[in-house]
Amino acid sequence: MKSLVCAGLVISTLCFMSPARAQLAPGSMDVQWSTATTHCETKAPPSLQVHRYNATTFVLRESLCETVEAPFMYLLVGTDKALLIDTGDVAESQRVPLGNTVMSLLPQANGSTLPLIVVHTHGHLDHRTGDSQFAQQPNTQVVGTDLDHVKQFFGFTDWPNGAAQLDLGGRVVDVLPTPGHYASHVLYYDRQTGLVFSGDFLLPGRLLIEDRAADLASAHRVADFFKDRPVSYVLGGHIELDKNGALSGLGTAYHPDERALPMSKQDLLDLPAIVADFNGFYSTHGMFVMMNQNRVLLALLVGALAVLAGIGYGVYRFFRRHKAKRRAAATAMA
Ligand SMILES: [Zn+2]
Ligand SMILES: [Zn+2]
Repeated sequence: MKSLVCAGLVISTLCFMSPARAQLAPGSMDVQWSTATTHCETKAPPSLQVHRYNATTFVLRESLCETVEAPFMYLLVGTDKALLIDTGDVAESQRVPLGNTVMSLLPQANGSTLPLIVVHTHGHLDHRTGDSQFAQQPNTQVVGTDLDHVKQFFGFTDWPNGAAQLDLGGRVVDVLPTPGHYASHVLYYDRQTGLVFSGDFLLPGRLLIEDRAADLASAHRVADFFKDRPVSYVLGGHIELDKNGALSGLGTAYHPDERALPMSKQDLLDLPAIVADFNGFYSTHGMFVMMNQNRVLLALLVGALAVLAGIGYGVYRFFRRHKAKRRAAATAMA
């Protein structure tokens, strides 16, 4: 039947789509992020940018002028509940009005907003500092980020194996443990849109890997989970590359020619090979730069101490030589 339809039709992209992919709720990632210039003081973009992927799916991003992390947050709306994934890097609503913006995007029913669950990809501060803006919001639950809270809320009994499900009402989201970058990191898969929210476990840029063995095991579980599932886009927690694949500088509010946010299903399937290439210190694989931040920082610290020690020794020798010269001169005069 499918081939008959395709043969008789004018060329349609649907003919080339897998049946599962064709069933995904469509949406658009055609968005220009207001990446900051060096003039944050005079030409600052809006502190929070909202992109409507479709009527019930939103991508939010804090401005680089507010935080050099410029993290992404995601809002999924079901018929019974809404889910916010991550709350960004800014607590003060005067600076970034995340709480009120999210509440304004939720549908109203009988004078109240849809219940909201606030979850996280992981507990690093750039993904949860905005939690405080939801503490006083009505019908809102904020889930903790430590491993005990994550296990308990999602009902993981064999962490890090298995997947949990959250039903938002006509919209099921799978939750997969992905420790490696962070011990209680999870990844979310929205079955309705095929979107994957990968946090800092997978993003276009630096993959900071704290625990290589855990990260590699996570990569294998993720690749296995997605091999037979349709994926529209993989969306991480940050963008750290430009369009030529060059890394943006650490701590800079200037991201010229920033790369697009989405990654692909192939990136998920390639993850075991990517992480297997990691030497535990600093490695690159395609567009990904993998590093153990703690070890790199320690090496930098040791290097800086070695330089300081070298300078100190040089100064010590200079003064010793100087003193010896003065003593020799005084002896010659006597
Ligand atoms: Zn992180
Ligand atoms: Zn992050």
